[in-house]
Amino acid sequence: MEHHELWQAVLGEIELQISKPNFLTWLKHSQLVEKKEGDGVALVGLPNNFAKEWVKNRYHKIILGSLRNFDSSIKNVNYAVIHQNTVPEREITSVVNKKQDTTVGIPLPLELKIDPKSNLNPKYNLSSFIVGSSNELAHAAIQAVIKDVGKKYNPLFVYGGVGLGKTHLLQAAGNEIIRTYKNQISVLYVTSEKFLNDVVAAIRNKRMEDMKKKYRDVDVLIIDDIQFIGGKATTEQEFFHTFNALYENNKQIILSSDRAPSAIPTLEERLRSRFEGGMIVDIVYPDYEMRLAILKTKIQNQNITLDEKTIEYIASKVQRNIRELEGVLNKVVFYIQYKNTSIDQKKLDEIINETTQTTSKNLTAQEIIKSVADFFEVPVNDLINRSRKKEVVEPRQIAMYLLREILKLSYPHIGEKLGKRDHTTVIHACEKISKDIMQNSQLNQKILLIKERLFKT
Ligand code: ADP
Ligand code: MG
Repeated sequence: MEHHELWQAVLGEIELQISKPNFLTWLKHSQLVEKKEGDGVALVGLPNNFAKEWVKNRYHKIILGSLRNFDSSIKNVNYAVIHQNTVPEREITSVVNKKQDTTVGIPLPLELKIDPKSNLNPKYNLSSFIVGSSNELAHAAIQAVIKDVGKKYNPLFVYGGVGLGKTHLLQAAGNEIIRTYKNQISVLYVTSEKFLNDVVAAIRNKRMEDMKKKYRDVDVLIIDDIQFIGGKATTEQEFFHTFNALYENNKQIILSSDRAPSAIPTLEERLRSRFEGGMIVDIVYPDYEMRLAILKTKIQNQNITLDEKTIEYIASKVQRNIRELEGVLNKVVFYIQYKNTSIDQKKLDEIINETTQTTSKNLTAQEIIKSVADFFEVPVNDLINRSRKKEVVEPRQIAMYLLREILKLSYPHIGEKLGKRDHTTVIHACEKISKDIMQNSQLNQKILLIKERLFKT
């Protein structure tokens, strides 16, 4: 059997033994690189270090067992980080089809006068971007880039959660560069999805040269939500070359992502190290003062009035997403103008709940615990019983942390649900995880992946 076929057969077997999300996260991008006949060692390639370590620690037994089922000459398995240079035909066609289905017939809102050359939306500018402790570093880095295009921070990588202003900041930077340098510096803004589509279309229509020109001729290339190129081999490869071409010519590259480069599980190692070679800044959740400032500025800009207490109440309740903050404000204002009355507490809460529901999605403690157990492939019962097994220590601490963070359960209540632990143990676990997340990108990544699965609809 050829390597590829053998590996497909092995994956087919493993797929039946582990959960689908785990299979997709860890093994979908794996490959069998070589099989040494002499010593019977197979080499399995994974796209990056994190995946390599994870697969080695967790799936080695099943992989070895399954390989041996098909080829008894195999005695052991080694793991390595391998760049994916080839892409199966299937992947390309499926992307094309999907895109054709979804892009047809979606009219753009009329207000968007997107500049066809740069792809930038003029509505985003720096003066409407409120700066506070949560984003001041990102803002400062963007300003440095505008001042010293291509020279100072290259690439600039901005990451942070949904609705925290990444797109706003990147687009504003593009607009500002065009304005400051009076069109002498060309800018191109794309989402990574658009980039992916362009690559796929260029391959399909045999117009690679046009595509290369489009992306490599600009002075500033901005790619938004770069996390989506992870795991798509052709796109990553094309991006890698584009990146190098621009970088070598001192052209500026600005990227955004919902997480740090180290936490994109399917990102190729060589791209990751390119990203890490530049400047990486994050945007975190805005604090109360900043949320208040954002609301007040928006109110002022729109020439509307809203009583102080209502503004403060919204700022205190909507904590994790500036888009939702705006959404609540718009709905409240609409309600007041439409009904021509003031808003009562009940209606206000209703609006806040319906707007923020997508992120706080009515998850139950059981769902969270199960999702952690599934991720680590430990039995749910080991988490909720007093089990002292070593392999459940970290999963249980993470489960405690998530129950606290997502559901805001009390410490004693969490202790009750997870191993009948004392509330001080729970406090310790939550504090430990919050602290470790800052320093340990692998831990951070695990938690992001669990959350991603939890919040996926
Ligand atoms: P992201 O790309 O991180 O998901 P966006 O840039 O789309 O977030 O921001 C969501 C909404 O919040 C946008 O309407 C944006 O204008 C607004 N917004 C985000 N951050 C700020 C800020 N610091 N000041 C003013 N508005 C902001
Ligand atoms: Mg965005």
